[in-house]
Amino acid sequence: MHHFHYSGSDLHCESVDLAAVAKLYGTPTYVYSAATMEDNFRRLQRGLAGLDAQLCYAMKANSNIAILRHFANLGAGFDLVSGGEIRRVLAAGADVKSSVFAGVGKTEDEIALALKNEIFAFHVESEPELARINHVAGKLGVKAPIAIRVNPDVDAHTHAKITTGKSDNKFGIPLKHAAAAYEAAAKYPNLAIKGVQMHIGSQLTSVTPFVEAVEKVAPFAAELKAKYGITYFSIGGGMGIIYKDSLASGQQAWWDAQPADKRPLTPETYGAALVPLLKPLGLKILLEHGRFMVGNSGVLLSRVEHLKRGAGKNFLIVDAAMNDLVRPAMYESYHEIVPLRRDSSRRALTADVVGPICESGDCFAKDRPLQEVGEGELIAFMSAGAYGYAMASRYNTRGMAAEVLVKGSSFELINARESFEQIIAGEKVPAFLK
Ligand SMILES: *Cc1c(COP(=O)(O)O)cnc(C)c1O
Repeated sequence: MHHFHYSGSDLHCESVDLAAVAKLYGTPTYVYSAATMEDNFRRLQRGLAGLDAQLCYAMKANSNIAILRHFANLGAGFDLVSGGEIRRVLAAGADVKSSVFAGVGKTEDEIALALKNEIFAFHVESEPELARINHVAGKLGVKAPIAIRVNPDVDAHTHAKITTGKSDNKFGIPLKHAAAAYEAAAKYPNLAIKGVQMHIGSQLTSVTPFVEAVEKVAPFAAELKAKYGITYFSIGGGMGIIYKDSLASGQQAWWDAQPADKRPLTPETYGAALVPLLKPLGLKILLEHGRFMVGNSGVLLSRVEHLKRGAGKNFLIVDAAMNDLVRPAMYESYHEIVPLRRDSSRRALTADVVGPICESGDCFAKDRPLQEVGEGELIAFMSAGAYGYAMASRYNTRGMAAEVLVKGSSFELINARESFEQIIAGEKVPAFLK
């Protein structure tokens, strides 16, 4: 469910006509729905009712400070992965005390920054990292709260680039070596063992791998509770969203029409399967969903530059490109593409939807059946709220897109389009070339 829908013939986000946003702020522009994020948050909370659960929103999915503030206001902490992300949380006016710090290569400076801001815990991915965190904590005269990320070796059945819980991934410590890692951790004077963590991958569309992973790790979590008095188990993130029928899935009717055995994963089914496995542990449960919280809460608006008709192939050339939204080029992912103005007289068009960048990979969709749109018309890439702007770059000296947040009938720019001056601000010609 989300809040993007046609009202009359015009695509709206909540009560805001998206064409008005494009007119005011230009394109390409990301637009996010605050109500959709709030619904996602509340549904997850309700799905896990009965547990002492805390969402640590995986902010790498979308780290605009307005969105961080929105989640902090709702009661979320953050799953963060860099010193830059710590500083974003602070810039959002939120605090780091209910956030966890993940990642395989935290630097000493990042560890120190996290400790000074009283991070809830470090999620440790290797034994050398234990030594490093202990060292930094010692220098600061504090005890560093830690949990070790265990790798349960389950196949998440998702794209290879976003699978993280198999034994051949770089992430975590294999379950069979994890007890030894905790023993090592217990010997460090400046570490406090607080929990255990896992995260098996992203864009999971079935609850089965989550169940398998929790079943594998829960007995170990119980042992750790008995031995070290751990207080929490973080089961990671990874809940998938709907990309194919993105627009339709905003409506309850679409969900009602799905056959029971083919229903996409929801926070309700996720909770129903996991709560019974987790509750007996008597531990606080941390969740680190990123994509699920924001993915269907955002769209990328773009304008058609040209419709180029070729021999047996049409190209819809738009003003958004792989630098703005890299997921199709990087993960071969699908984004539904719809016109902002629906018109039943539009003819059908099959086209490759491409950006202006000089790369064959700058392609959003191949041979996509669309409603015909022509030069100057506006389109939306659906389900672009997660790993969209966050993974954008300036390739081809294209400034970062604008971002807008909608709430009800209000909307506000939450990130101005980047200017050319901002792009080259750090660059200079050295004296020896002058
Ligand atoms: C990326 C990541 C997440 C979030 O993944 P989503 O698929 O966006 O929910 C959670 N935990 C860790 C450790 C991650 O690296």
